[in-house]
Amino acid sequence: MARYCIYCGAESTPENPVVGSVCLHCRIKRGELVRLKTDRIKIDLCKICYSVKIGYKWMQSSGFEDAILLVVREIIPRLLVVSDYVENVRIKGYRLLTVASWHTLVELEISGVYGGKVFTVRKNISIYFNPVKCPRCIMYDSREFEAVLQLRGYNLSAVEKIVSKEIAKDKRLATDLIDVIKVEDGVDIYFYTHGAARKLARRLVNRLGGRILETFEEAGTRSGRQRARLYISLRKA
Ligand SMILES: [Zn+2]
Ligand SMILES: [Zn+2]
Repeated sequence: MARYCIYCGAESTPENPVVGSVCLHCRIKRGELVRLKTDRIKIDLCKICYSVKIGYKWMQSSGFEDAILLVVREIIPRLLVVSDYVENVRIKGYRLLTVASWHTLVELEISGVYGGKVFTVRKNISIYFNPVKCPRCIMYDSREFEAVLQLRGYNLSAVEKIVSKEIAKDKRLATDLIDVIKVEDGVDIYFYTHGAARKLARRLVNRLGGRILETFEEAGTRSGRQRARLYISLRKA
């Protein structure tokens, strides 16, 4: 039995299938295949390091264009509202309609399958970045850390393995660790306490070899008490 579109009367063909009494062309014209929950979104972006807040996580980016890429990949798929008649929806591509900045207009190319026929539609979305400071930059600015473990000359994946193992089995170490930051020639590990930094330094040297060098830096007073920040340098011999 032939199927006809209730709007334009077209008969169903492989090129213009009629599903649920409506042809593909009419669905596209009526905007019924894919919608965006909203045409503008606001995302926190660190004005210092360009990290983007995706859900609860901060993801590093190298600038506005990279941040937009993250938003398109990680956030926009969740904004798609897809008709029951459509399958395999994905964001096929996008382009910037304005210069990547705090407010950028982006055109999305969304593809899907309707009655066996692949289609593409375009939707615009405004991405607003909200200038904030990420926890890492706040931490670094406030210089709340008491100790930094600076590892140089080691195999980073070996270091990573040991660090995550030690943290998993030592709760104290886990609560006192603030952040692990990759730097050009190694990795810096920030701690709230001297003790935790020393503990991890010893365990790393036991496993990986090398030598430990400690230096102190005056870090002002807190609650009337003089503070000294501890820098522990670990160098592969
Ligand atoms: Zn039609
Ligand atoms: Zn930041």
